[in-house]
Amino acid sequence: MSALAVRTNTGRLRLAIQKSGRLSEKSLSLLEECGISFDLNKSKLNAEARNFPLDILFLRDDDIPGYVSNGVVDAGIVGLNVVMEKNPSLPIVSNLGFGKCRLSIAVPKDFEYRELKDLEGKKIATSYPEILQAFLVERGVSASIQEISGSVEIAPAIGLADAICDLVSSGGTLLANRLSEVERVLDSEAVLVSNLNSGDLGQKESEILKELEFRITTVNNSKSCKYIVLNSPNESLQTISDILPGIKSPTVVQLAEEGWSAIHAVVNEDVFWDVLGKLKEAGAEGITVMPIEKILV
Ligand code: ATP
Ligand code: ZN
Repeated sequence: MSALAVRTNTGRLRLAIQKSGRLSEKSLSLLEECGISFDLNKSKLNAEARNFPLDILFLRDDDIPGYVSNGVVDAGIVGLNVVMEKNPSLPIVSNLGFGKCRLSIAVPKDFEYRELKDLEGKKIATSYPEILQAFLVERGVSASIQEISGSVEIAPAIGLADAICDLVSSGGTLLANRLSEVERVLDSEAVLVSNLNSGDLGQKESEILKELEFRITTVNNSKSCKYIVLNSPNESLQTISDILPGIKSPTVVQLAEEGWSAIHAVVNEDVFWDVLGKLKEAGAEGITVMPIEKILV
């Protein structure tokens, strides 16, 4: 067990999530969707799940990788950007599909940017000095990194830096500050991290973590899929079935009307619109799409 660890094995998994910020609500909703319920009292630092052996600790996101790494908590939900900055060797248990953003380099609109080499010898302001430094070294560019903790986007306008490296999601903040995004350094989303390799995690806690991971995967798989029901002339059944990428093969049920069947299938949301056009072309009618609560695979 690492020297800094202050906990003893309790038979409950201690999970850190962001106390207040962009990931807080979605982290809690994910746990609720996993069937885990708890009494929320945010003024407290922690909450105990009622129907699952899980204790939640509310922390600043920057502290989560460190606490997971030194064994104060067993696992954490935090942005990949924070993990890569603070503790890049921390094992990622699963990607969670929310909090999506990218860490990008942006320059003022009047900067004539063609390639990364144009930043040679320039000053770049960022809250992510480690990630930026690794990126520049890998690409053979030497620039001076100015670490600042907030409002990075105003650094060029106040003469603090020539460029910035900051988190972007819609790009609205860059636009408002007359900055152009020129290099994508890291694609990020919320991740579940745990110090799996340290030996800190007891047998019981490892089992709870596995169960949590299983539930998260189930919830996220279900979210990305839709249940689709449609009517098909019997002569088109094969063509339509071939278009539908079902879990195994679509379910076909004969309709009361002679010569027609209903097809039931599960379709991934990503391919849904693509498939929809092809289904209509193939003669499908009455196409109904429904959300799925859970799929166990
Ligand atoms: P804390 O008080 O916990 O330190 P913070 O101010 O550092 O909070 P937030 O702004 O709440 O952090 O962002 C938390 C995480 O949300 C980021 O680290 C990132 O992973 C993710 N995120 C998603 N979109 C964005 C965005 N447009 N800007 C910043 N972070 C984003
Ligand atoms: Zn933070």
